[in-house]
Amino acid sequence: MLQQTRVAAVLPYYERFLARFPSIATLAAAEEEQVLAAWSGLGYYRRARALHAGARSLVERHAGRLPRDPALLREIPGIGRYTAGAIASVAFGLPEPIVDGNVRRVLARLFAVDGLRLGRAAEQRRLWELAGQLVRGPRPGDFNQALMELGATVCRSVGPACDICPVADACAARSRRAIERYPTPAARAVPVERQVAVAVVVRRGRVLLERPGAASPLRGTWDVPAAGGADLLRSELRNRHGLSVELGEPVARYTHGILDQVLRIQVHPCRLLDRTVGRSGDLRWVAPASLGEVAVSGATRKVLHGSSSGSGSCGSTGIGRKNA
Ligand code: SF4
Repeated sequence: MLQQTRVAAVLPYYERFLARFPSIATLAAAEEEQVLAAWSGLGYYRRARALHAGARSLVERHAGRLPRDPALLREIPGIGRYTAGAIASVAFGLPEPIVDGNVRRVLARLFAVDGLRLGRAAEQRRLWELAGQLVRGPRPGDFNQALMELGATVCRSVGPACDICPVADACAARSRRAIERYPTPAARAVPVERQVAVAVVVRRGRVLLERPGAASPLRGTWDVPAAGGADLLRSELRNRHGLSVELGEPVARYTHGILDQVLRIQVHPCRLLDRTVGRSGDLRWVAPASLGEVAVSGATRKVLHGSSSGSGSCGSTGIGRKNA
């Protein structure tokens, strides 16, 4: 849950999720839709699916208990090298390394690991190797956590507090007066900006949500219908769902970031032009009060609930203000 998200924002979701699924067995027994609904609001549903698949794999292959062996841990869906190292060292006291962003910074500076010279892949290999050599001794879990904490609080990316650093005397970057050279900054992709038109269609007090098609710019399990422009949106609603609508002028605008994209969203209130309710199984009508039980994307949540980053709720639809 914490990937790309602050602890304070995650806590209420975490508590609700644990209350709903208090054990690996209850999580494994749940339907995917229930798990995604409990995850709704956190976005990046791939993580929730992996967690669910991981719980099922544990029940099927390990009687619902996490194995101690790091190699077996890494066979569980959703568990990569970092998570396997964290579980093995913190939960089982095994001398397994972990390298996250904070550890990478500390080790790159401490040992002057030159990512520019080595290249990204060799730098990573070297950092894991160093972390593996260091995590010896009686409390590997504490050691790993201390290393992460050192990176988070002392060896910060900007303004490292070398004066109070417990490993300052051994730090190669410091002795070379070249701290800013390490670690090599990761190349960041410039997010692509996309214009998105979304439709808020309300019928008998319920709002229309669809399972996004492959071409949809939104990435949730259920979303307000969206397309790359108003005309496209109208034809998508007709072609995919058999819905004929009149698209109103935009009543709100939002900016929403998802990993590699910045979406500029225009919200169109829509009126159904005939009595058809849509023929596709990929759509549903949801009452505003029930939105919390449905897995929707962050962008859809923003559109339906209003947001400080936007210019209003969904105007004449009446959706949003009540639940903002
Ligand atoms: S001495 Fe400074 S740069 Fe080196 S590890 Fe400590 S905080 Fe980081």
